[in-house]
Amino acid sequence: MQHCTDPSTRSRPGRVGLMGGTFDPIHYGHLAAAEAVRQGFDLDTVVFIPAALPPHKQASQVTDASHRYIMTILATLSNEFFKVSPIELERRGSSYTIDTVRELRAVYGDETQLFFITGIDAILEICSWRDSGTLLTLCEFIAVTRPGYVTAGLNKLREALGESLFSRIHVFSVPALAISSSELRERVRKGKSIKYLVPEQVEGYILKNRLYLATDKKAEC
Ligand code: ATP
Ligand code: MG
Repeated sequence: MQHCTDPSTRSRPGRVGLMGGTFDPIHYGHLAAAEAVRQGFDLDTVVFIPAALPPHKQASQVTDASHRYIMTILATLSNEFFKVSPIELERRGSSYTIDTVRELRAVYGDETQLFFITGIDAILEICSWRDSGTLLTLCEFIAVTRPGYVTAGLNKLREALGESLFSRIHVFSVPALAISSSELRERVRKGKSIKYLVPEQVEGYILKNRLYLATDKKAEC
């Protein structure tokens, strides 16, 4: 299947943001962070990449990939700079960022600058990611601030990675939105409103498909 990152369909952008996540569901915290980074780093586009299966989770712990993919498309429709790639869903199995970035590096070519966008919570775990050293040489990272997570751990990360690799990580302040997918799932399960926390189309999709009504699978594990 041809996907939106195929350069044959349009001119090749020079600066591309990659926003990986489970997006179960996607929410305004993800969208506001991606838009702030797009502007702040003068990116041509931000590609949202829903994970088939995050390496640290079982398949039964995440909502069906097709639902998460559709919600991500719905949420990004109104932003001409946002795209969604099924690259990890097509690969299936555990989604390793190193595989994704290698594939996209080949698609975009060496001259395109790739920026992988994560929250502070995710970047602090980067040493546990597969081939993290190589990954940091293939793309730069933009670690966005997130309510509830402090940047204090970054000093330890600097020591662990060394100055050269650590310099590939840019910490960036974005509007503070204390929203998480886990909390949204919990709210739906308890019958609470998720209005104004996710785009209206995503809210409608969740309600129509009766997602997250059963006991939160993640909370069980
Ligand atoms: P969960 O609670 O299930 O872990 P989540 O809200 O953290 O969900 P993910 O899909 O795990 O969402 O996150 C994808 C990326 O977006 C991660 O790098 C995460 O740190 C970042 N992120 C998520 N929510 C926010 C937020 N409110 N502000 C800034 N970054 C965020
Ligand atoms: Mg998370």
